[in-house]
Amino acid sequence: MTRFVDVPALCRIVARVGVEEFLAGIAQTMREDFKRWESFDKCARVASHSDIGVIELMPVADAERYGFKYVNGHPSNTAKGVSTVMAFGMLADVETGYPLLLSELTLTTAFRTAAASVIAAQALAREDSRVLGIIGCGAQSEFQATAFHTMLGIEELRIFDIDEAAMKKVARHLCRFPDLNVIQATSAKEAVKGADIVTTCTADKAWATILTPDMVEPGMHINGVGGDCPGKTELHADVLRGGKIFVEYEPQTRVEGDIQQLPDSHPVHDLWRVIADEEAGRDSASQVTIFDSVGFALEDFSALSYVYKKALELNEGEDISLIPELNDPKDLFERVLGLSGQVHSRNAA
Ligand code: NAD
Repeated sequence: MTRFVDVPALCRIVARVGVEEFLAGIAQTMREDFKRWESFDKCARVASHSDIGVIELMPVADAERYGFKYVNGHPSNTAKGVSTVMAFGMLADVETGYPLLLSELTLTTAFRTAAASVIAAQALAREDSRVLGIIGCGAQSEFQATAFHTMLGIEELRIFDIDEAAMKKVARHLCRFPDLNVIQATSAKEAVKGADIVTTCTADKAWATILTPDMVEPGMHINGVGGDCPGKTELHADVLRGGKIFVEYEPQTRVEGDIQQLPDSHPVHDLWRVIADEEAGRDSASQVTIFDSVGFALEDFSALSYVYKKALELNEGEDISLIPELNDPKDLFERVLGLSGQVHSRNAA
């Protein structure tokens, strides 16, 4: 049987584990998976583009488990009352190919993206970072803010969005943290001024420049989340040229990340090597570091693995018959005959 975790089941798991602990659990699983990066069979995701969005499949496997995510990105969706990013995914047993888990991944993607942002910042940002600026107050924002506050010690958060209601929504949700000072800025420039870390998580299928060189200060860490598709960027090319750039999986990021604006010869560094202590992150306190995040299949694999573990531990979700259970594995037809037999006898009656 396959364990099925739908949205209500995932919410029950998060409620029982706790939001902060759930985030930390995904981050820890991801960190361990990044450390064994070379044991995974990896490829860039397969993308199907339209004028207004993209639908992607993201596979990855190790010797024991295979996982994939289906995900879309449609920035104009929110005007239609539908989320920009929606996802589901699965884990399978490599030895038999049997699907072990089918899970919602819309909420889980927000958790996993925030977890990836924080493990990157832990590796790259200055240790004394306390002020975070977030530009873009959509679906991902509170997850980012929660992760940075609870896992990195961020004390002051400055937020900005062109949609005032979205900013108010973030401020309202973050009231749950009395020791986090949330400031609603009047411009992106104001939000990032003096910030130690800047997260850009806007959605626009355009060559946008959310962050320009005049907004970047020495020692900043830039967590670029929303530039994740060909023709969809957030960072001015000179911001990229002025910092040390880290990526998840270079072949994918060259096509999808903000670095699509740079020639392929421009040097970038593997985030996993820093997490695995194989390479240094920032070289000095004044260096600008940039995580050009696009979202990589391994991060979803880590999140799916954690969700699966928790679903079994807490007995949440349900076992579904996604694959036929057969008396004789060579006799698939018998299963169909059972059904057609019922139809036949109903007709005869
Ligand atoms: P969303 O549509 O819910 O929110 C996007 C927000 O950006 C909106 O509130 C919008 O008003 C705001 N915005 C747009 N242009 C702006 C501008 N110029 N200045 C300020 N705010 C602006 O989207 P979401 O689900 O929060 O996702 C945000 C982005 O992150 C998307 O581009 C999505 O594709 C991307 N994403 C990346 C990853 C990753 O792993 N890197 C994962 C998930 C989502």
